[in-house]
Amino acid sequence: MELIFLGTGSNNPSPHRGASSLALRVSGTSNVYLFDCGEGTQIQIQRSSLRASRITKIFITHLHGDHLFGLPGFLCTLSSSVLTSPVMIYGPLGLREFIETTLRLSYSWLSFKYEIVELIPNAYDGVDENLIKTTIDKQEKSEKCRTVTMNEDGRYHLIANDDNCAVYAISIKHRVPTYGYIIIENDLPGKFDIQKLQQSGIKPGPFCSRLKAGESVTLDDGRVLSPLDYVGPSRTGRRLVILGDCCDASNIIPHAQNCDVLVHECTHDNTLREKAIEFGHSTPLMATTLAEKCNAKCLLLNHFSQRYKSKSIENKENVVKKSKKEQGGAEAGENEDEDDDDVTVDLLLEQAKQSTTKPVFIADDFFTYTIPLSK
Ligand SMILES: [Zn+2]
Ligand SMILES: [Zn+2]
Repeated sequence: MELIFLGTGSNNPSPHRGASSLALRVSGTSNVYLFDCGEGTQIQIQRSSLRASRITKIFITHLHGDHLFGLPGFLCTLSSSVLTSPVMIYGPLGLREFIETTLRLSYSWLSFKYEIVELIPNAYDGVDENLIKTTIDKQEKSEKCRTVTMNEDGRYHLIANDDNCAVYAISIKHRVPTYGYIIIENDLPGKFDIQKLQQSGIKPGPFCSRLKAGESVTLDDGRVLSPLDYVGPSRTGRRLVILGDCCDASNIIPHAQNCDVLVHECTHDNTLREKAIEFGHSTPLMATTLAEKCNAKCLLLNHFSQRYKSKSIENKENVVKKSKKEQGGAEAGENEDEDDDDVTVDLLLEQAKQSTTKPVFIADDFFTYTIPLSK
């Protein structure tokens, strides 16, 4: 399993960072899940190693434009690909209206089959119940859309066993109904010990796949091989938590214990905590506090205010500024003030590391993280 961050900026795309989007390569298949689709996501996909036609499921965390404005354009581009299975699109109530309205008003048409699954807000989301009812009533009955309500355990159960994993959504606190997604991989079969087989004087053959699958095998010479002797114990599947924008994601804690990865937004630095909370966002300390409470094995930070530049971009810009100064260009003097304001994501990383000993990474655009299997 591999996470590829396509856009890691908050509010809007910029030359430095794309708007929110994150891809997950699912293990054991060529399928890719996309989480959020901010403006310009399709360009970021083209700049990455991903193939758009491999995206089979799209999860939208909330309906703010910086997580959604790239979706109609991406779907239209996807229409030029040959897709063998329907594209599933999950997100808050209102997602269907957004997709269908933008497609209709732009005279667009999708060549592939798709289904929209809308999550009905609950009392936690603070949405007027009458408004929810009216919105649902307005929904035309359609094969292309269905709705999911929250279970008694506080989770929205979205996927049972596709691609060898289950996916749940859980409400988290932002300014509008927003969800975090939990992906739980099924346990994986144990390792096949081919050396032990060879040491027993047995030549590997097609029977090995049956042995790997847990079946006993009788060889031509009458020997019976038990999988218990050649296949190790099953390995625990990975557990990923991908959060949307939030200033309080504590709802996720009981369901995210010992997760392998927690992806948490980090819009502002610790000195701007009040501003962050006012706008429904988080700081490094807020993210590490949640990571500690979940006992997450690794914390990946994304969704940075555009004022925090990536280190590599800052270096490039300094070269440009320096060369302009050397040329005595008019812009050189104007840019000197901006130099004082330059601040990079290193500040966010430093602050995060002050409050946790867990591995923490800043996910700039195209940052890729392979999630290891537990030992
Ligand atoms: Zn956002
Ligand atoms: Zn938002």
